[in-house]
Order: sequence, then structure tokens, then C-alpha cells
Amino acid sequence: MCPDLSDVIEILRGEFEAMKKNIHPEYFQAKVVCAGCRNSFTVGSTLSEVAVPVCSACHPFYTGKQSLVDSEVRVERFRRKYAKTSTS
Ligand SMILES: [Zn+2]
Repeated sequence: MCPDLSDVIEILRGEFEAMKKNIHPEYFQAKVVCAGCRNSFTVGSTLSEVAVPVCSACHPFYTGKQSLVDSEVRVERFRRKYAKTSTS
């Protein structure tokens, strides 16, 4: 005997509704903290906290100023990397 089609549809609909609830991640007003300038602000996110290395308050593109500290670190890192390579 074949099961009643409307019952099958009801069961599937119930399962689909339960599934829809489970696929939506939790939504936070995440606190974003910039490591460069310690600036913080909130955005909607699935993460509760976001750490960023640079933000619009300190990025040279927005400030119009060259970030000398950062480039010096990069130059230093480059020198260390190639100093190691030449000795090996
Ligand atoms: Zn920043």
C-alpha cells in the first residue's frame, strides 16, 4: 500500500523547516580591532570578534601619509631573510 502523498509532503516540509534553522549561523555585532592603530568599530558578522592588521583610520591609502614604521619592518624582514640565505 502506498503512503498518502500529503503525509509525505508534510513530513518533508517539517524536515526542511528544521534544516533551514540549522544552516543559519549566529549573527553578531562583531567588534573589529585594528592592530595598527588600536581603533575599534562594530560590523555585522558571523564572528564575535575580528582582528585586522590595518584599518581605514591608519591605512596610508586613506590617511594619505606613508606608513614609514611598517615599511621599515618590511625592509628589516627582507634583510634578515636574505642574510640567512647567503650564509647557507
Ligand atoms: Zn587602524
